Amino acid sequence: MSYLENGIVSPEEITLPDEKRRKKGPYAVIECVQRIPCDPCASSCPFKAITIEGSINELPKINYELCTGCGVCVSLCPGLAIFIIDESKEGEEGIVGIPYEFLPLPEAGEEVILLDRGGKEIGKGKVERVKKDKKTKTPVVYVRVPRERIMDARFIKREGGK
Ligand code: SF4
Ligand code: SF4
Repeated sequence: MSYLENGIVSPEEITLPDEKRRKKGPYAVIECVQRIPCDPCASSCPFKAITIEGSINELPKINYELCTGCGVCVSLCPGLAIFIIDESKEGEEGIVGIPYEFLPLPEAGEEVILLDRGGKEIGKGKVERVKKDKKTKTPVVYVRVPRERIMDARFIKREGGK
């Protein structure tokens, strides 16, 4: 199934860095698969890691040699279509940076419910930190998740709330 068939981005539609880069440190994953006139991801990246070639309607491409995983693009993407993945540390867990526009914001240490791209509950995670920058727009919630869920966990729900 593809995004155009059921409205949910499938793993096959996403570009990931190679194994070496994945182990090196955090990186951005762009899950933007629909051609729309939009480019804040490319224009905001301080390291020029994202490009949109030709028409503004083209899909963004990322250069993983340049991406530092800083998260600026995550908080400026109006489509909430970019995530940060950090699977560089040994152990059973990794971190996913998720754009989050509900209030109140979760707090560091809070346990949250992990949801996949289709909104299905897939387990629990713990909030590591919340990045809220005056210059950027959408807060980014960094959540510690089981390693096997790092490529699936794309939304969070607070216990008893949103
Ligand atoms: S995470 Fe930072 S360095 Fe990587 S693409 Fe986004 S803005 Fe650029
Ligand atoms: S800013 Fe977001 S929605 Fe717009 S082109 Fe970039 S990834 Fe896609």
